[in-house]
Amino acid sequence: MNRFDDKGMMIYPNPIKKSGICRNKTILVVRECYCQNGHSLISNQAVFNGFKGIQVMVRRGNETGLVALSPVYGYKSRVTLNVLLEKEQIWEVCCPQCGEPLAVFSRCSCGGDLFTLFLNREADFANCILLCNRIDCFNAEIKFHNEILHYSGMETVI
Ligand SMILES: [Zn+2]
Ligand SMILES: [Zn+2]
Repeated sequence: MNRFDDKGMMIYPNPIKKSGICRNKTILVVRECYCQNGHSLISNQAVFNGFKGIQVMVRRGNETGLVALSPVYGYKSRVTLNVLLEKEQIWEVCCPQCGEPLAVFSRCSCGGDLFTLFLNREADFANCILLCNRIDCFNAEIKFHNEILHYSGMETVI
């Protein structure tokens, strides 16, 4: 299992602490998500709190790398492979299988783009997760049956 950060250190996901979600004693975990071409983005290369992570490819100029995101919604931990993500940078987020940039749903209030992780293979914008492509922007939305659940927490990013 690869859990090396960009300095080659071993890092471990923190246990889930208080977040809006955990105060409710329930957490929302993404168990399936897809690119717009139906490729699954769930990967066992990084596991967070016992759940398989969401793996995406990031691109910026000539640089590319893989990033695994926590599938626990609102819990913003991540593991990067072969790439150094610096605060405030904006990266293009792509599917690791087809290499296509993930669909951009809308502009984030920070100036980044909200990219889409679809919750089913039909690539239906009524059921998807939107995440900002600017590093350390905490904006994330989940759309489920067209209802928007909003979370803008302050969880620590590893
Ligand atoms: Zn794909
Ligand atoms: Zn943003």
